[in-house]
Amino acid sequence: MDHYDIVIFGAGIVGLSVACGLQDLGLQVLIIESTLPKTPINTEIISPHAKHFSVLNQASKFLFQHFGIWSNILNINTSTFYRMEMWERDSFGNITFEESLRRNPARSLGYIIENKKVHDFLWQYVKNLHNMTIITSEKVIKVSLKDKKALIFLKKNTVISTNLIIAADGADSSLRQHIKIPLLSWNYKHNALISNIRTEIPHQKTAYQIFHNNSILVFLPLIDPNLGAIIWSLLPEKAEYLAGTSEALFNQHLSVNFDVKLGLCNAEGMRQVLPLQGCYTHKFIFNRLVLVGNSAHTIYPLSDQGLNLGLMDAAELIGEIRRLHHQGKDIGQHQHLRRYERRRKYSTFQTLIGTEGCYRIFIGENLRKKFLRDSLLTIINQLPSIKSYLLKNAQGMTNIPNWLR
Ligand SMILES: Cc1cc2nc3c(=O)[nH]c(=O)nc-3n(C[C@H](O)[C@H](O)[C@H](O)COP(=O)(O)OP(=O)(O)OC[C@H]3O[C@@H](n4cnc5c(N)ncnc54)[C@H](O)[C@@H]3O)c2cc1C
Repeated sequence: MDHYDIVIFGAGIVGLSVACGLQDLGLQVLIIESTLPKTPINTEIISPHAKHFSVLNQASKFLFQHFGIWSNILNINTSTFYRMEMWERDSFGNITFEESLRRNPARSLGYIIENKKVHDFLWQYVKNLHNMTIITSEKVIKVSLKDKKALIFLKKNTVISTNLIIAADGADSSLRQHIKIPLLSWNYKHNALISNIRTEIPHQKTAYQIFHNNSILVFLPLIDPNLGAIIWSLLPEKAEYLAGTSEALFNQHLSVNFDVKLGLCNAEGMRQVLPLQGCYTHKFIFNRLVLVGNSAHTIYPLSDQGLNLGLMDAAELIGEIRRLHHQGKDIGQHQHLRRYERRRKYSTFQTLIGTEGCYRIFIGENLRKKFLRDSLLTIINQLPSIKSYLLKNAQGMTNIPNWLR
C-alpha cells in the first residue's frame, strides 16, 4: 500500500494552490484529479473565445506573490482595474469606487484573470514541483477515515493511505457526498449569462455593475481597451432567450441594459449560461479530512468572491499545515484542524451573509426595495469611511490569515 502525507482531491485552482503552498515542506503529496486538462498552456495566445473570468483581490495576489508566481499570473492575459461604477438603471442610485493610479500604481481594485489560463499555468507549475505526484482520470471507490490514517480505495484494487485528505473537488464534491457531510444549499433562481463584449468606447480600466429589477449586469475590463467580459445575472428563461437569440438582438439588449455607457456593444465569441447555486457545508473538517474552496461553499458571483474565498481557505490551511508540521504534530487530527475550521467558517459566513444581503436588496422590482437600494447607493457614496471599509473587505484584507499579512 502506498502512503502519502497528504492527498488532494481535485486539481482546480484552489487544490493546485494548496499544493503550491506545500512545496517546500518535504511532505509527500498526491493529487487525484478526475479529468485531464484538455489543452497545454500557451501564454502567447489570447483566445477570442475566452469565457470564464474571475476577479482576484489583494489577498489572493499576496498568496500568489508568496508562492513567487504572481508575475507569471500577471503575464497570462491578466488585466487590472482601478475604478468601479455601480448604478440603478432607471433611477438615481449610484456609487463609485476608485484607486488613484497616480497615488499608488501597485494598488488596484482587482485583477481579472482568465480562469482556464491561470489553471493551465498552475497545473504545469505543480507538475514540476518535487514531492508532488499527480494521477488523473482516477475513480475513487471508497474512502475510510480511521483514527491513525485515512484509506483511499481506487479502482483496480489500489489502496492508498494518508494522514490527511484535502477535498478540493468543487461544488458537486463527491468526497463530501461520500462522507455524507450535511449541506445547506439553495437555488438563486437566476442564471449567469457569460460572454465577451466589444465596446464602442474604451473602458479605461473601469468595471461596471448595473442593477435593473431582475437583472444584474457586471462588466469586467480586459487588456484590450475595447474588450470586456460580462457576467449577466438573469431569470433563467431570460438568460436562455438572450443566449439563443440572434447577435443583432442580443447586442441591442446588451447596449440598452448597459445604458449605452460605452456606446454600442457587440458580443464576441460564445455566449454561455451557467446556473447559480449557493451552498455551505456544516462541517469544514472531519478527522483526517478538510474541505476547501467550492466543495465547502459556493456563493452568488455578484461580489466576485467565490474564488477569493477558496484561495483564502487554501492560505489558512497552508499556514496550519506548516505550523503543525514544524511543531511535529499530526496534521490530520481533528483537534489540530479545528482552528482552520473556526477561522474559515467565520470568514465564509461573513461573505455569505454580505452577498446574500446584497442579492436580496439588488434583485427585484418591488418599489420599496428599489427606493431602498437607490438610497443605500447614494448615501454610501457620500461616506468615505464606509466606502473604504467596504473596499478593504472586498480586497480580502479583513480576513487574511496572519502569516500572509
Ligand atoms: C459566472 C461565475 C462568475 C464567477 N466570478 C468570480 C469572480 O469574479 N471572482 C471569484 O473569486 N470567483 C468567481 N466565481 C467563482 C469561482 O469560479 C469558483 O469559486 C472557483 O472556480 C472554484 O474553484 P475550486 O478549485 O474550488 O473548484 P473547481 O474549479 O470546481 O475545481 C474542482 C476540481 O476538482 C475536480 N474533481 C471533481 N470531482 C472530482 C473527484 N471525484 N475526484 C478528483 N477530482 C475531482 C474537477 O475536475 C476540478 O478540476 C465565479 C463563478 C461563476 C459561476
